[in-house]
Amino acid sequence: MSISSDLRQTVHQLMPTAIENLKQLVSIPSIATEGYPDEKVLEAAHTTEELLRAAGFQHVRLLSPDGGRPAIYGEIPGPPDTPTVLLYAHYDVQPSGPIEEWSTPPFEPAERDGRLYGRGAADDKSGIVAHLATIRAFKEGTGKLPVGIKIVIEGDEEFDSSLASYIPQHPDLFKADVVVIADHGSITVGEPTLTTSLRGSAALTVEVRTLRAKQHNGVFGGPVPDAFIALCKMIASLHDEHGRVQIPGLEPSEWQGADVPEEAFRRAASLLPTANLLGGERSLSAQLWAGYSLNVIAVDMPAIEGAANSLIDVARARINLRVPSDQDAERAVAILKEHLVNITPWNATLVITDSHTCSGFVAKTDGPGYRAARQALREAYNVEPQDIGDGASIPLTNVLSQQFPEAEILIWGAEDLAAGIHGPDESVDLKELERIVLAQALFLQQLAQR
Ligand SMILES: [Zn+2]
Repeated sequence: MSISSDLRQTVHQLMPTAIENLKQLVSIPSIATEGYPDEKVLEAAHTTEELLRAAGFQHVRLLSPDGGRPAIYGEIPGPPDTPTVLLYAHYDVQPSGPIEEWSTPPFEPAERDGRLYGRGAADDKSGIVAHLATIRAFKEGTGKLPVGIKIVIEGDEEFDSSLASYIPQHPDLFKADVVVIADHGSITVGEPTLTTSLRGSAALTVEVRTLRAKQHNGVFGGPVPDAFIALCKMIASLHDEHGRVQIPGLEPSEWQGADVPEEAFRRAASLLPTANLLGGERSLSAQLWAGYSLNVIAVDMPAIEGAANSLIDVARARINLRVPSDQDAERAVAILKEHLVNITPWNATLVITDSHTCSGFVAKTDGPGYRAARQALREAYNVEPQDIGDGASIPLTNVLSQQFPEAEILIWGAEDLAAGIHGPDESVDLKELERIVLAQALFLQQLAQR
């Protein structure tokens, strides 16, 4: 039998254990943010630690990033002169949101129609068990790994990643030839993809003031400008009639990779059946992965309850801008700021605060790691792999690529578009999980031969 069909069989036999491990992890509500019990986060950390040891990792230990939750680290040395692969996933999860929106309780893993439902089933506990099963496929097959392995399972990815500042302080722990981030997935199950670009982002708070204090809108309304209306006029001018960002200097990039099927996308986005998709002629994938997107994520204004007949003196909005992966987020936010100044109506006073940016990421895809990964996906899925992007950023990719400019970074996983990550009824397709485990095992095999 060939190595690949051996691995295929071994992986298949390992899946019941992998699914058990996944259920065990999903049943722990490891929400790493204020207002949720820390004990659950620690319980998930210790469970992960034990699972790593059981899978054969050595030097398994908890790392304590400053101000963060523990990350779990382990290693398995490879044969001499073989590359080192760093595996990454995270064990913290988003809060469940309203329980009544879930078909089954979020922390009671339930299988339906080949999918496992529960918070974290996909994002990103599927990544943890994928890594464990990948390692087991060798331990229980030939007994040894073809390359050196390091693994880090982060504990606070969903809120403020503390690993981002820990890595530059301890570079030797994380140094690798290839980094595998299993916290993503294909658009459609069974159609393999590599996520080769991530949009950058920028955010700022804009404050518009027209009055020293609120005034009666009957007595003064008409000639006296209202700050809230001024802010609304500004916000309303930021998009054209097709919903495209219209700010001179913020022009979209081109997209060359895979397309996004419209029906599945509408469903995943929970778009109302009557609502339009935006963008005019631009394809969904071009908009999502190579376009700008701007929205207002919060506003300060008087609540309806207790409404008074007043002209509003001051209004604030928090604006978030997504930036094409190959464009400079710093430059984009500077253009946005200047534009906001230029469009402020009525000589109102404008103050911009709390501005921050996160650069996008474009993977280097021409090295041995990517060649091995494409070959592995082709074999595991029997389908030609495609490149996709992601509209959201993963700050860790920037930290890793700055720290280890030579390393190749692979982003994939079992989180397909229907996985509903961060929403109710999050789930993972268990066959897809098996395919990604096989792809990872074949990848390690392939990489050792290059
Ligand atoms: Zn994630």
